[in-house]
Amino acid sequence: MDCIFCKIINKEIPSYKIYEDDTVYAFLDLNQEHCGHTLIVPKEHFQDIDDIPNDKLMYIFDIARKLKKELTEKLNCEGIALTQNNGFIQEVKHFHLHLLPYYKNNVQMTIEEVYDKLK
Ligand code: AMP
Ligand code: ZN
Repeated sequence: MDCIFCKIINKEIPSYKIYEDDTVYAFLDLNQEHCGHTLIVPKEHFQDIDDIPNDKLMYIFDIARKLKKELTEKLNCEGIALTQNNGFIQEVKHFHLHLLPYYKNNVQMTIEEVYDKLK
């Protein structure tokens, strides 16, 4: 299957990994419009919200709660949105949850600077 997120999980292409366990993989989104924009993906390929089993979905939200705390502490963001796209607005057809940090003041960092703070 030609899935870019499966390739990231299998380390066939590089990523800014910030968390990994047997079930999930989390990495920085290449488009850092929000500094610290992170994606959490199940290691198993599921397409979208209709495809992923409940236990995996709950586990992803459990990890999202942990990473929200970590992003807040390390990047000093003041709000975090969790979003998940389906259908034609979903660009990559491997289920993923976005963590989108928000800052009251304008914060600009390169992806390397963000990654350095999270490592
Ligand atoms: P979505 O529209 O929810 O499918 O979002 C897909 C996201 O994946 C976008 O925010 C892209 O910037 C991001 N993305 C695509 N390719 C990569 C990649 N190789 N590494 C990190 N993020 C990626
Ligand atoms: Zn995949």
